[in-house]
Amino acid sequence: MADTQYDFDLFTIGIGSGGTRASRIAAGHGARVAAAEEYRVGGTCVIRGCVPKKMLVYGAHFAEDLVDAQNFGWTIEGKSFDWVKLRDHVQKDIDRLEGLYGETLDNHGVTIFRERAEITGPHEITLASGKVVTAKYILIATGARPHMPDFEGNEHAITSNEAFHLDEVPKRILIAGGGYIANEFAGIFNEFGSKVTIANRSDVILRSYDAALRDRLLQISLTKGIEFCFNTEFEYVKKQEDGTLLVKLTGHEERVFDQVMIATGRVPNIEGLGLENVGVELGDRGQIKVDEFSKTNVDYIYAVGDVTDRVQLTPVAIREGQAFADSVFGPGEPYSVDHSCIPSAVFSHPPIAAVGMTEGEARNHLGSIKVFQSDFRPMKNVVAGRNERGLYKMIVDAANDRIVGIHMIAPEAPEIMQAAAIAVKAKLTKADFDATVAIHPTMAEELVLMK
Ligand code: FAD
Repeated sequence: MADTQYDFDLFTIGIGSGGTRASRIAAGHGARVAAAEEYRVGGTCVIRGCVPKKMLVYGAHFAEDLVDAQNFGWTIEGKSFDWVKLRDHVQKDIDRLEGLYGETLDNHGVTIFRERAEITGPHEITLASGKVVTAKYILIATGARPHMPDFEGNEHAITSNEAFHLDEVPKRILIAGGGYIANEFAGIFNEFGSKVTIANRSDVILRSYDAALRDRLLQISLTKGIEFCFNTEFEYVKKQEDGTLLVKLTGHEERVFDQVMIATGRVPNIEGLGLENVGVELGDRGQIKVDEFSKTNVDYIYAVGDVTDRVQLTPVAIREGQAFADSVFGPGEPYSVDHSCIPSAVFSHPPIAAVGMTEGEARNHLGSIKVFQSDFRPMKNVVAGRNERGLYKMIVDAANDRIVGIHMIAPEAPEIMQAAAIAVKAKLTKADFDATVAIHPTMAEELVLMK
């Protein structure tokens, strides 16, 4: 395996979800592996993405749980919320996870360079310190970063990167964007007591999700006090003497906020990587173009994860990293990742989860479909006096009874969806669901009781 012509068999740029998995697996197959990370080992998901975000979602949910608890007989006196305490607990756990990621790579014999890396020639990488190393294969796993729209005063806005480190919960926050990050942080800050306004360029939130779920989240969010400004863009943000931000959105009067957070998508991290030095081809969104085996147009350079902008999710980056490492360094046949039927979730309040085709997509692609729906008030909400309904939708191909999509908005929807997604991936039919006995009383039983 070892090709002594090069310092390493594999050099991975970026130690995030995809880079970590690829490096560890390649090393396990006997490759001599090095990896570089310019920020913190673990990448976006662990350091400033999925993991700290979910911890904040948990923290935020107590706001509702503590209110709901009263109808369940609990008296809660003197409740208060300490953001700094939560923030610091979350960061402490992130430090722990970062350590674990580093340890795992160390234990697999991966050489870690904690500095920026750039491709400076064929098979050649130069580190920020000036050290030059060579590798038989290079894997680009540099992820993506928040997109910052161009408008006057955008330097006063934060992104999700900074949201985890705020000194205090903003009294008034304007969140720009209609995607999952915007809606998740809207829920988080709203539960912590901020007055939240979402500003979106179009009049649609969560574009890729089923329309009925989007409408339901919008309606519940409005009821919870989140404000939406649609079809608008920034004219300017001006910092005032007292530190507050004066914001002008098109079609709206000037308004004052304490924070402006931009969550308008994420762009591939390709700047300063030296791709032009070796001629790596890019797509029209600035993503690295790869084939089904994650190989670029340059024979020895591969790319996985968000930088390829296929599906920007951690489990996808991990699978791509695994498939790359097994295919290039493992004993078996090369294989590729199946990007179809990937389940996903939005950790809003309440959360959304989905797999497969929306009703609209199924009508366009299949023509004849059956739609089953359960619109219910979860038992816990009934007792709590919370007038918040869940919605499950199942989309079935009328030609063969196969379930082609499941969509849910309700408490615990992502937890339930992980199991339901197996059934959709396995091409099970509505009859298979009907034949399954319910677990009563649960919310999930709605899945097997749809008429
Ligand atoms: P990353 O994990 O981003 O890792 C790339 C690494 O490369 C970074 O650490 C970066 O510092 C480093 N790097 C970049 N350039 C260089 C260079 N030149 N030299 C050295 N190092 C470099 N996904 C989910 O599945 N579920 C979720 O709930 C979820 N929530 C999210 C919430 C937020 C707020 C955000 C921002 C993202 C979330 N994601 C979620 C997306 C998920 O984090 C990404 O899809 C995933 O991290 C992509 O992994 P990756 O390996 O491609 O890149």
